[in-house]
Amino acid sequence: MAEGEVRPNKKVVLRNYVNGFLQESDMVAATDTVRLEVPHGWTAVIVKNLYLSCDPYMCLRMASPEESIEFPSFVVGSVMIGYGVSKVVVSRHKDLKVGDLVWGMIGWEEYSLISDPDFLMKINHPELPLSYYTGILGMPGMTAYIGFYELCAPKKGEFVFVSAASGAVGQLVGQFAKMTGCYVVGSAGSDEKVNLLMEKFGFDDAFNYKKEQDLNAALKRCFPEGIDIYFENVGGAMLDAVLLNMRISGRIAACGMISQYNTEKLEGVHNLMNIVTKRLRMEGFVVADHYSKYREFEEMVVQHLKSKEITYVEDITEGLESAPAALVGLFKGQNVGKKLVVVARE
Ligand code: NAP
Repeated sequence: MAEGEVRPNKKVVLRNYVNGFLQESDMVAATDTVRLEVPHGWTAVIVKNLYLSCDPYMCLRMASPEESIEFPSFVVGSVMIGYGVSKVVVSRHKDLKVGDLVWGMIGWEEYSLISDPDFLMKINHPELPLSYYTGILGMPGMTAYIGFYELCAPKKGEFVFVSAASGAVGQLVGQFAKMTGCYVVGSAGSDEKVNLLMEKFGFDDAFNYKKEQDLNAALKRCFPEGIDIYFENVGGAMLDAVLLNMRISGRIAACGMISQYNTEKLEGVHNLMNIVTKRLRMEGFVVADHYSKYREFEEMVVQHLKSKEITYVEDITEGLESAPAALVGLFKGQNVGKKLVVVARE
């Protein structure tokens, strides 16, 4: 691949702002060309994209600027942006050279011009599957680490509940909780996922929330003594039921509320008084505020991966054109494990 060469560049573009439930037709595939050349005077890089990460927050960025909550909206007609793994093919940046493998924010396209490469992280462990840098060694892994260890301050013997437990973040939270000596229960939306939680990730118990008539009763069955730590991924009715089952001085890490991302009418939460009477601490966080701890996290998880104390399940789709369906599938529970899309294999 020669510098200055012009290549076709397949991409996925936001067609319109999302109103209601995210649909594949909100995105469209397109092809234009890219010149493999950094504009004069820029300290930028051009990367060839290998793996794209499908993440629930992306749909929040697909809302119109008037409706978006905190996260800046994508621009209609422009390429979708998300986390991914890439290889540097042209560099004008002092710390990156051609051939370096990186992860960070890229376009949903074959080649991206990254104008501020300081936000890209170099991949230190290419001996592990590179796709792990979209999941366990990337943003979702870091989310599990910060949310569980920093916000929840877990102690051995505590009772931990994780919702959306088989997903990119949840499967790791459950394994961290087991490594800490906690009792951990997860909820997920199919029997296949429930089996995975117990057989593969070592959760002590798990339930299929779609089959439960009464979430409060399901939690009472799993936690007769109550919950010390709730790792919140879904919000809505599950949060309401959890509040009833928290123990005194319990902690809730508000990581995400996926059940509320695609609804036109947000659900109310009724049991908030439990926060007062049980002296609970519920704290939200955004992983991007914590990347100064990334290297510490990476080394810890790499060690546990290599010693096989931690495992990770990915749900891999081939081809950039399949990315819209892969993203929509997150909100229908179609992914089993971390959802990612292969654009190219180096
Ligand atoms: P994921 O679990 O890999 O995929 C999403 C899963 O959510 C689906 O597979 C589905 O699993 C579940 N789900 C979808 N719609 C649902 C609904 N209406 N009610 C209940 N569950 C539903 O996603 P992830 O990447 O691990 O993300 C999990 C949560 O963490 C999300 O809320 C995300 O926004 C949040 N997050 C936050 C940060 C942060 O910085 N705070 C960073 C990353 C992720 P089931 O089959 O189990 O329903």
